Amino acid sequence: MIPVNDALPPGLYIVATPIGNLSDLSARAIDVLRHANAIAVEDSRVTATLLRHIGAKVQMIRYDDHVGDAVRPQLLERMANEVIALVSDAGTPLISDPGYKLVREARERGVLVTTIPGPCAAIAALTLAGLPTNRFLFEGFLPSKAKARDDAIAELAPIKATLVFYESGPRLVAALDALALGLGNREAAVAREISKRFEECQTGLLSALATHYTAHPARGEIVIVVGPPDAESLRPKGADLDEMLRTAMVDHPMSKAIRLVAKQSGVDKDELTARAEAIRQAE
Ligand code: SAM
Repeated sequence: MIPVNDALPPGLYIVATPIGNLSDLSARAIDVLRHANAIAVEDSRVTATLLRHIGAKVQMIRYDDHVGDAVRPQLLERMANEVIALVSDAGTPLISDPGYKLVREARERGVLVTTIPGPCAAIAALTLAGLPTNRFLFEGFLPSKAKARDDAIAELAPIKATLVFYESGPRLVAALDALALGLGNREAAVAREISKRFEECQTGLLSALATHYTAHPARGEIVIVVGPPDAESLRPKGADLDEMLRTAMVDHPMSKAIRLVAKQSGVDKDELTARAEAIRQAE
């Protein structure tokens, strides 16, 4: 365990910072940021505000996707003998933010890698949404182009888990519409400005949320949480069901094919019998 004092051993300290409310900075995070030899930051103006708040004066080194490859060697060199902290503009580093290559290479060098856990918008939104949390998939930002976004959503449709997306105000309604179309009209939540003055969490069907935010355009930072599919929406239908029956009927008599497809699909045997008879008549 890393103690809360100024005798920190050298290494890489991954430090979570507030997602809106500065009071959410933990005592350990303050300790590490005050005593670090340098802090790898996304935007020094953003982190400077945080450091002023805790009265810390520490060297900041820009570390983001543009300069990461160039800056990483010196950070890795220094963390052998110094305390190097990694922060992002807000929340937990590496979660839709830079850092994983730094952590991987620090591990390869055998230096201490430790984390100061704290706020993360995805987890905070899950706690607000009132949707199942036993199994969730964090998708982060959907692609901005419509075709790529719809393809990404189609890949997620069969996954039996609550889905978590990061989003921005101007794209919210388009994202909700696309999710309703691609996933079906599921229960969902829009968590906005978490831990800030105008925090809100609206819940309802995706279509109702789209209607709400069309009438009341949303500003600020947003997490969309979408509930898992229900069993009915995952059941194969129409042409897919016929294809399953046709395939099963190649190797098995009709009654056994129906039993097998009923087991695989969860579809009622009466419906499968009617379909199987129609297939046989058409052949
Ligand atoms: N690493 C951060 C974390 O741990 O949550 C996320 C960084 S990502 C670049 C920024 C996105 O997180 C925002 O666009 C928004 O979707 C979400 N986010 C950050 N702060 C938020 C807040 N206070 N309320 C709702 N969503 C937030």
